[in-house]
Amino acid sequence: MTAISPTLAYSRVQAPPASQCAWCGHEFGGPDERLTGRTRCAQCGVATTSPWPSDAQLSAAYGDWYRPAEGRFSGLGDTVLRRMRATLATKLNRALPAGPVLDVGAGDGNLARAFKKLGREALGVDPYAAANHPDVRAARLEDIDGQWSAIIFWHSLEHLRQPVQALRHAATLLAPGGVLVIAVPNAASAQARAFGDRWLHLDVPRHLVHITPEALVSVVESLGLTVERVSYSRGGQVLFGWLHGLVTRFPGHPDLYDAIRRPDARQAAQGPVFRLYALAAGVAAMPVALAASVIEVARHCGGSIYVEARRAS
Ligand SMILES: [Zn+2]
Repeated sequence: MTAISPTLAYSRVQAPPASQCAWCGHEFGGPDERLTGRTRCAQCGVATTSPWPSDAQLSAAYGDWYRPAEGRFSGLGDTVLRRMRATLATKLNRALPAGPVLDVGAGDGNLARAFKKLGREALGVDPYAAANHPDVRAARLEDIDGQWSAIIFWHSLEHLRQPVQALRHAATLLAPGGVLVIAVPNAASAQARAFGDRWLHLDVPRHLVHITPEALVSVVESLGLTVERVSYSRGGQVLFGWLHGLVTRFPGHPDLYDAIRRPDARQAAQGPVFRLYALAAGVAAMPVALAASVIEVARHCGGSIYVEARRAS
């Protein structure tokens, strides 16, 4: 379940060559692991989507179907998503130091709006936002200046062509005592290993890097920030990763994520009977998915990584 700005190709600038690790810049060679759709760097452990998509390929991958104006999910899905964003804003609002918040990869601006409702100054940034909007600026992160009490990458970092450079710029925008919050899929999670090339959160070509907790923490610390919290449950998307993966194991490999989307927001057309079958498979898989989620979170290899890091005051 990728909840992100479709077009956070903030990075159209200076795309790294396809032969390099998009995380650490290592030139791919012998010891790197070639997998379907990605190459895992022997140096940093992060996988880079391979082949590396062109801007045109990414635009196609984020076509209108991905985030139609009328919403992505069937039934109450979009309302549930908005509520989840409001709950997230409330939780983060308590944890973050007072002052303005910047949401990188803000998409439709739900999170920034939820912060504003809580009385906090907030701005989303997304280079492909339709137009400047009170909650979302159509700009790249590099175009943002000022000082921010908190900067949030909520499942957006993995969409960037130059994720480490983005983190480096974000660190320069943090006020003393300010907090960087990052949530990304955990490429080293139990669910990533269990489902391999069918893991929901691989999401190639939209996800350009497939990050591990070690690699993320190491870069954040290299920016001079102190990591105060690493969580494998706060980043969300754990249960759905298991549900989706288990459902792909049913005969015919139904796609649960497509099944819960509106017909015009699906990657592939799905007949009503097959869609019902996918949804029923999701219900059947729920007990196992719940148990697997609890276990992987308890073993610190949950499907998402959440990191909170603070700049010294
Ligand atoms: Zn690397």
